[in-house]
Amino acid sequence: MTATLRNQDLAGAVAEAEARYAAANPQSARLAEAARASMPGGNTRTTLHYGPFPLAMQGGRGSHLTDVDGHSYVDFVNEHTAGLFGHSDPVIGEALHRAIDGGFVLGAPNPFEHRLAEALVRRFAALERVRFCNSGTEANLLALAAARAFTGREAVLVFHGAYHGSLLYFGHGASPLNMPFPVVLSTFNDADRAVADIDAHAGRLAAVLVEPMQGSAGALPAEPGFLEALREACTRHGIVLILDEVMTSRLGPGGVQGRLGLVPDMTTLGKYVGGGMTIGAFGGRADIMGRFDPGRAGAWSHGGTFNNNILAMAAGVAALERVLTAAAVEALNARGDRLRLALAGLAERHGLPVVVTGMGSIFGFHFHRGPARNEAELDAFARGRGPALDALKTLFQLDLFAMGQHVTRRILGNLSLASSDAEVDGLVACIDEFLSSRGALIREAAG
Ligand code: PLP
Repeated sequence: MTATLRNQDLAGAVAEAEARYAAANPQSARLAEAARASMPGGNTRTTLHYGPFPLAMQGGRGSHLTDVDGHSYVDFVNEHTAGLFGHSDPVIGEALHRAIDGGFVLGAPNPFEHRLAEALVRRFAALERVRFCNSGTEANLLALAAARAFTGREAVLVFHGAYHGSLLYFGHGASPLNMPFPVVLSTFNDADRAVADIDAHAGRLAAVLVEPMQGSAGALPAEPGFLEALREACTRHGIVLILDEVMTSRLGPGGVQGRLGLVPDMTTLGKYVGGGMTIGAFGGRADIMGRFDPGRAGAWSHGGTFNNNILAMAAGVAALERVLTAAAVEALNARGDRLRLALAGLAERHGLPVVVTGMGSIFGFHFHRGPARNEAELDAFARGRGPALDALKTLFQLDLFAMGQHVTRRILGNLSLASSDAEVDGLVACIDEFLSSRGALIREAAG
């Protein structure tokens, strides 16, 4: 970054960064433009959209990605936590090749699904029985549908800021695409308020659905006692507590629930549990899950052509049985803890309004001052500063790209098993550089 960048206003700095980005990435620009003819905005996954156009990736190895214009990046997006194993884990790669050689559309039960189910049930104490599906969204939809059928009640309690999938999104209200379930919206990390809401609506609540750390809202961990209070209230009223561990289950050998000793009635999983292949899973109490037993009179029907697809099952078995040991989880979390500590230290040293959130190997980086325990607290600071904060995030991402670091625009990142200590140090150094060169802009926009 050159000294000439330092004294501009924010809009000028963003315009210059975007021009630099566009000039450096003509192939990504061309692909994005061409895709507009067949997909709305050239996009099939909202999460991956950012302006002026997203980087298209050509390939990846280990912790690195290469884009279609030939630039190399250290990856801190890692497929939004599903890429826990890096881009080319040899154990998973070999399992996939073998599975492909053995035939990959068998249309019958296969040994891999039994082993993957066993591996999950062994790992997660509250998972007495499990079933597979194809995404975390589907896992949450099925868990909610099961809770509704099991209790005979209709409504679900969820939290502002929650993301449980593209049909269950509660960021800044509720998405118009959400499933038409009656919903009670409560406040994350406000145990008194949540318990009062549960008590007030208990007669119609089938389920409480909660992430142990809100991911999409900005890596906001549940405070001690919050989940336990939900557990107690749900037990008192016979409400099914569903813990959405689609993102967080990687944070402990037995998920965050294992770290806390929390026993939800149901758990939803996805992302990394298929070793990087398409997957979702949901499960929990045997009395609830037993209703799916097809041999039983009046069983709930749950089909799904690809529920036991060979690639996800085989890759998941390799990943969970051989790669993601308890020691590997702990070492990765320790590396993430070190990263978050270093980033928080940078914010303090620069005296800038930056708050670092997250847990273990997942981190959030916010241009923010004050507590950041839930969406309301982030929103309160953003009020009146929204466009400026968005501009800072744009600048952050484009500057970090220029330094060879692959990060998201909402500045939510994670480490993979392929991330090294040196790469973590490299990211800290780049963010240090960003905070130095853009400090005046950050202070002006978010001070
Ligand atoms: N639940 C949480 C907590 C998530 O973070 C996500 C995805 O980011 C989902 C559910 C949805 O998973 P999928 O994208 O596989 O549908």
